Amino acid sequence: MNSVHHTLTILGATGSIGVSTLDVVARHPDRFTVYALTGASQLDKLLAQCLQFRPKFAVVLDEGIADRLQGRLREAGSETQVRCGEEALVEVATAPEVTAVMAAIVGAAGMKPTLAAAQLGKRILLANKETLVLAGRLFMDAVNASGAELLPIDSEHNAIYQVLPRAHREHPYAQTLADVGVRRILLTASGGPFRTRPVETFAAITPAEAVKHPNWSMGRKISVDSASMMNKGLEVIEARWLFNASVDEISVVVHPQSIVHSMVEYADGSVLAQLGTPDMRTPIAYGLAYPERVESGVRSLDLFSAGRLDFEAPDLQRFPCLRLAFEALRAGGAATAVLNAANEIAVEAFLEDGLAFTRIPELIESVLTECVSSCQATNLDQLLYADALAREAARRWLAKRRSS
Ligand code: NDP
Ligand code: MG
Repeated sequence: MNSVHHTLTILGATGSIGVSTLDVVARHPDRFTVYALTGASQLDKLLAQCLQFRPKFAVVLDEGIADRLQGRLREAGSETQVRCGEEALVEVATAPEVTAVMAAIVGAAGMKPTLAAAQLGKRILLANKETLVLAGRLFMDAVNASGAELLPIDSEHNAIYQVLPRAHREHPYAQTLADVGVRRILLTASGGPFRTRPVETFAAITPAEAVKHPNWSMGRKISVDSASMMNKGLEVIEARWLFNASVDEISVVVHPQSIVHSMVEYADGSVLAQLGTPDMRTPIAYGLAYPERVESGVRSLDLFSAGRLDFEAPDLQRFPCLRLAFEALRAGGAATAVLNAANEIAVEAFLEDGLAFTRIPELIESVLTECVSSCQATNLDQLLYADALAREAARRWLAKRRSS
């Protein structure tokens, strides 16, 4: 059998998902060729990746970093050409040679090149959930119009994808979930590091505590999102768009061991789950090789050492961010774009600027109340406007707090 071959652009190659992707790619040099790698601040890491994977292009945002990277690549005898800026991200995501794009930039910054790749009908390996939170309808319209193959990399969505009927996972907008006999999606959540911590102590949570996830090793932003459970909120929105599900067809189930990665319940009462050792190389390998299966380097699931699997209902009082995400999804329009932007500013202020953990949902709720009614969501410009307006409102909220 001829195996699938892909020429890849990896957006966000220097991040947690980017590194795991290259780990899988390195195991299959016959199947995957790297066309472009992109990063932002981590010059040494991107240099080492370029020397190992010999991409045609490397892209960074800053001109100074681009010049230094190009100089060091030349010194090392590399032919990789360095490009710089947002336009260059779009170029490497849409180049004719590229067949698949790993979208692993963090935050709304990842949306434009991901959308551009979808418009051109590439295989999209979607880790950047913020693209769907910001512009879900637009992005799915682009995928449906171009016939792009959309493979979810987020572990829960990858699990759901694996256990959905093939017709629905490949063409989710050709019918409803009910049409294919699905009753609901059970989206699992670990509950993060503060699932059982006394809620009275939440105001004292430090960035170091928040980024220390019990089961997964991830970038800082998504780690804080997991600690506040905003991550699960973003994932509910992501599932709504990926699987053409209504908000009532998605239930969040807290499962602290992160072994069941999510489930789908069918009309006959069957519940299908995907299980595995928590390691992002499983969904990444699945997305890269789909519909084939390849070695990912992930160790076998040891059910005996796991011992037990627990399940509980989410606590929306303890985790108001999850409630806010449900509310934004129900409100529709630009509300989820506003939610996402406010959350990005709040998380950055928590990590860099001493904002209390408990203020994260307060800031987001205030920005939602202020901005949603003045925002629309029918085209990309309107969504980018909503994103900018929400960031501005969030910064004003922070400045007011600082001065009072
Ligand atoms: P990281 O913070 O580890 O990596 C982010 C990547 O994006 C880095 O390559 C970084 O470059 C680059 N980057 C940061 N800011 C910008 C910007 N403004 N423009 C262009 N590039 C930028 O994040 P993760 O790998 O953890 O997450 C990436 C995405 O995948 C997120 O959307 C996250 O929600 C999603 N995801 C991650 C999972 C995980 O296990 N990590 C699981 C499921 C989803 P540099 O480091 O060089 O500055
Ligand atoms: Mg996830």
